[in-house]
Amino acid sequence: DQAYDLLIIGGGPTGLNVGISARKAGLRYLIIEKGMLANSLFHFPVNMTFFSTSLKLEIHNTPFISHGDKPTRSEALEYYRRLAQANGLHLHLYEEVLGMEPRSPQGYTVRTSKATYHARAVCVATGFYDTPRLLGVPGEDLPKVKHYYDDPHAYINQEVLVVGAANSACDAALECWRKGARVTMAIRGDSIYDRVKYWIRPDIENRIKEGSITAHFNTTVTAIHPASVDLNTPAGPLRVANDFVLAMTGYLPNYALFERLGLPVETDDACKPIFDPETLQTQLPGVYLAGVACAGQETSKLFIENTRDHGERIIIHLQAK
Ligand code: FAD
Repeated sequence: DQAYDLLIIGGGPTGLNVGISARKAGLRYLIIEKGMLANSLFHFPVNMTFFSTSLKLEIHNTPFISHGDKPTRSEALEYYRRLAQANGLHLHLYEEVLGMEPRSPQGYTVRTSKATYHARAVCVATGFYDTPRLLGVPGEDLPKVKHYYDDPHAYINQEVLVVGAANSACDAALECWRKGARVTMAIRGDSIYDRVKYWIRPDIENRIKEGSITAHFNTTVTAIHPASVDLNTPAGPLRVANDFVLAMTGYLPNYALFERLGLPVETDDACKPIFDPETLQTQLPGVYLAGVACAGQETSKLFIENTRDHGERIIIHLQAK
């Protein structure tokens, strides 16, 4: 058993940010991460470029150097490694937080896959990349269905269905088509999502217009079979030959984990965990929510860029208590 002032769950951009703020304040803190450092970013598509400039991702006055104005995944991984190393952050990797109970007279007992910890305060910075938003159709469990897209090389000469029309879907469709896949898109709405990066949007729209990529708008997937997929299009049901499905339909926070931590969630559409937007404190005293986990299901509203002040805000509130 060990006692900490602050236990931080998640070693992504947010957990590291909170950790650096805690270190600067002289607190006894520990970051616990279930995978590798910046685990979500590591699992982003191999060739992805961030939509934020590196300047807007910088934290704690540490310059983020990238070769283009928008950093790549590998430049971002380098940045977070260097932040962790330069600050000598206390990090336990490959250790999963399983649950948490209040402890009298104050603080919490946090159980992990490896140990039990006591902490005066806890910060939940678990992001939303661990739970894909499922299509909920028969055949979704076939191994050819991917909810995480990594590298286009796997799809050369293959019939690929990309589901969705947001940034991840457009990136995957364009990259796979450029490397030699035959790409079809199934899009629920009547257009490409309006928040698609301004330099990607004309590219995808023109590839669709010229017929290089076939897009079915106002269309849903109804079933996935080993060699085909069934679509429901405005012209009626359609069966399309298929080798791989890239379901780029987004991700959700881990609600089962929130429950095991004892964190109640709003009952509206956003299903946000309940917290004070000023202090980021949840209904449990001394338990804070940070980073994109604060967005609930509205995962497109928060990103690294607009949650960079969370570390400082949490530490100020914690120290004032
Ligand atoms: P995460 O990075 O998801 O970190 C959460 C961490 O918690 C993970 O490492 C996870 O392994 C860990 N964890 C989860 N559960 C447990 C547990 N039980 N125990 C221990 N550890 C746990 N944002 C921008 O600002 N600019 C961009 O250009 C940008 N591009 C993006 C591109 C993609 C493809 C995606 C998916 C997101 C993008 N975002 C961008 C959004 C933002 O980068 C990510 O959501 C970012 O990872 C958020 O940081 P975070 O630390 O809050 O969450």
